[in-house]
Amino acid sequence: MSSKVKKIKKTSKKAEKLIKKRNVSDKKRIIGKISKGVSKIEEEILLQPPRGMRDLLPGEQPYWAQLRRITSKLGHEYGFQRIDTPVIEYANLYTRSIGEGTDIIDKEMYTFTTKGGDKVALRPEFTAGLCRAYIQHGMNVLSKPIKLFSIGPVYRYDRPQEGRYREHWQANFDIFGEQDAVLDAQVIQLAYRVVTNLGIKNIQFQINSIGCPKCRKEYQDLLVAYLESKRQKLCQICKKRLESNPLRVLDCKEDKCVQVATNAPQSVDHLCDECHVHFKSLLEYLDELDLPYVINPRLVRGLSYYSKTVFEIWSGDEDGKKHSLGGGGRYDYLIESLGGEHTPAIGFGIGLDRLVAEMKRVKAKTYNESKPKVFLAQLGELAKKKSLRLFAELQKNGILVAESFGRGSLKSQLRVADRLGVEITLIVGQKEALDETVIIKDMVSGTQENVSHAKLVNGVKKILKNNVVVSNNLF
Ligand SMILES: [Zn+2]
Ligand SMILES: [Zn+2]
Repeated sequence: MSSKVKKIKKTSKKAEKLIKKRNVSDKKRIIGKISKGVSKIEEEILLQPPRGMRDLLPGEQPYWAQLRRITSKLGHEYGFQRIDTPVIEYANLYTRSIGEGTDIIDKEMYTFTTKGGDKVALRPEFTAGLCRAYIQHGMNVLSKPIKLFSIGPVYRYDRPQEGRYREHWQANFDIFGEQDAVLDAQVIQLAYRVVTNLGIKNIQFQINSIGCPKCRKEYQDLLVAYLESKRQKLCQICKKRLESNPLRVLDCKEDKCVQVATNAPQSVDHLCDECHVHFKSLLEYLDELDLPYVINPRLVRGLSYYSKTVFEIWSGDEDGKKHSLGGGGRYDYLIESLGGEHTPAIGFGIGLDRLVAEMKRVKAKTYNESKPKVFLAQLGELAKKKSLRLFAELQKNGILVAESFGRGSLKSQLRVADRLGVEITLIVGQKEALDETVIIKDMVSGTQENVSHAKLVNGVKKILKNNVVVSNNLF
């Protein structure tokens, strides 16, 4: 056996082994390639994004554009400034702030080690990164309150299900530096306005207060004592939660846990004076604002950093099905726990993917970029060159132009113009290209004239203006 043949045999055995080891399904095929005696194992490219991720195609974008417009417009009106933090942070920032015993940290975080050996995570939420930035950039010296707005993707490695993606989008509003309950009311009002401005109705807020470290300790002891007495009735996960994060038992979705939670002691009955007054004034503000809310004593939110106010925004459809659109709460001790000075804060996030689904359901208004009313057609090489320049010239003068420069035939270009329903077609033929002129064809009146390049912009503007007058007169 020659050495070359041996090598080939060895390589294909290696490929076979790999195929076995990776339990290759029909989707994934490993091809063993041998060239010049060097082996190369290649995986077939799967023409789809990783599980739980998706493309937001151009057809979807009018919904997203509307979302971006409404969130940033209202954010601006309420005095928020935009901030962008990295999608990746050191993993322990989240472990420390969100806390062990939460689903995010225990199960759902995308954590990995970089080539340099750093343990990092794709952000599962915005708040921790914002607090890190707040401390790092010494924002505590700025005049308070400091209002920050972010928008972008967040990542959760949980089981993808209908309407829930591993990469999903959030808009986030946070206020740092003030502890007055009026701010709690203000962010809830802002959340309400964002959602209703998108055309989504039937909104309800669920509100609760989970107290501060002072009063929560006492409440938690009571709760644990109660839950211990019902231990046998809890699900397996809640039995563990009893040790790691007993508050979470209250929002378990398992029927038997819901039953236990119904009769559990409620945090609102065990607030210290300060927390009690805070919660009472928040409710007074909400009443004053006529915002639709219910107190949900079992609402705890999945994150450990919250104190006092927690809330969620829910929408209901015709079938009575309810969807959580987002939520938030106070986190007066988070910045301190990350090494900053004591800084009260409150914020909320809303899930944009869910909002888009709701917008579609209620047939909400979308945002569409304005359509061009002018089409620029050309014939021949010289005309094509001149047209590229004319296109930019018209755009610079505020005239939106459509074109089909890749097509040679005038007939097929005019078909495109027709399909777009433009009001004006500009034609640069071989003769016009030499003369430095353009034919302006008014598609409404059917008239056409030949103008010099210098007179083109004004000629087009005049026709567009006249057409508006004509169509206005019709109504
Ligand atoms: Zn308290
Ligand atoms: Zn449970």
